[in-house]
Amino acid sequence: MEKEKAITVKNLVKKFGSFVANDNLTFDVYKGEIFGFLGANGAGKTTALKILCGLSSPTSGEINVAGFDVYSETNKIKNNIGYMSQKFSLYEDLTVYENIRFYGGIYGLKLKDIRKRADELIQKLGLTNVRNELLSSIPLGWKQKLAFSVAIFHHPKIVFLDEPTGGVDPVTRREFWDMIYDAAGEGITIMVTTHYMDEAEYCNRVCIMVDGRIEAIGTPSELIKNQNAENMNDVFLQLARKAKQQ
Ligand code: ATP
Repeated sequence: MEKEKAITVKNLVKKFGSFVANDNLTFDVYKGEIFGFLGANGAGKTTALKILCGLSSPTSGEINVAGFDVYSETNKIKNNIGYMSQKFSLYEDLTVYENIRFYGGIYGLKLKDIRKRADELIQKLGLTNVRNELLSSIPLGWKQKLAFSVAIFHHPKIVFLDEPTGGVDPVTRREFWDMIYDAAGEGITIMVTTHYMDEAEYCNRVCIMVDGRIEAIGTPSELIKNQNAENMNDVFLQLARKAKQQ
């Protein structure tokens, strides 16, 4: 039986003037999958992610997200996804609780439900003692976990995470990935960009982008085997090097 697709992308092109940031991308993401988007700075990951979230228009291509078309149904897409941007979007001058209440409201949840879910979330994240503290006063790793939790607060079908673990220590990153696995276990499809190759190995499948193009796509073990490599770090270096020689 064919797996259900959460995202389909055919021949996605995004140009900024004459510069091609996304060069004919074609890939599918399956429902419940953790799909990693890897690439060096400037490879075009954020550009593609913003298009899939309905925040930016493609130059051309056929793109469907959660069953909706990115040209004509962006509002429906936004109702069905969560997004954690690189400079994750929580407000530093609101408290932990106020941030949750704010985003719950944006996602259209009722205040009664927001209060109940916020209490559960704050307890689950171990943030009870800082519930009424300004976000600016809590550590980066806690903020990232909170930002992820807020991005899935409304139980979206798909969540897009743009370098969610940048700048935090390996233990906190591992804890963050436990949260990603829990969300995937609940049926949420995850699309995540990362620079960390250990994180690439946590994904079900990965897509490696170089200079706006897809250089390889598959499970981490398929890519390691195909490239005759030791690990994902080697795969990445080989593909990036090959691209430069062309
Ligand atoms: P990073 O890991 O640094 O976030 P990335 O793979 O996400 O990199 P993008 O942010 O998608 O890369 O950028 C891809 C290329 O497109 C870069 O060269 C960037 O300068 C360019 N670019 C992105 N947004 C714009 C824009 N609005 N106008 C012009 N060029 C842009």
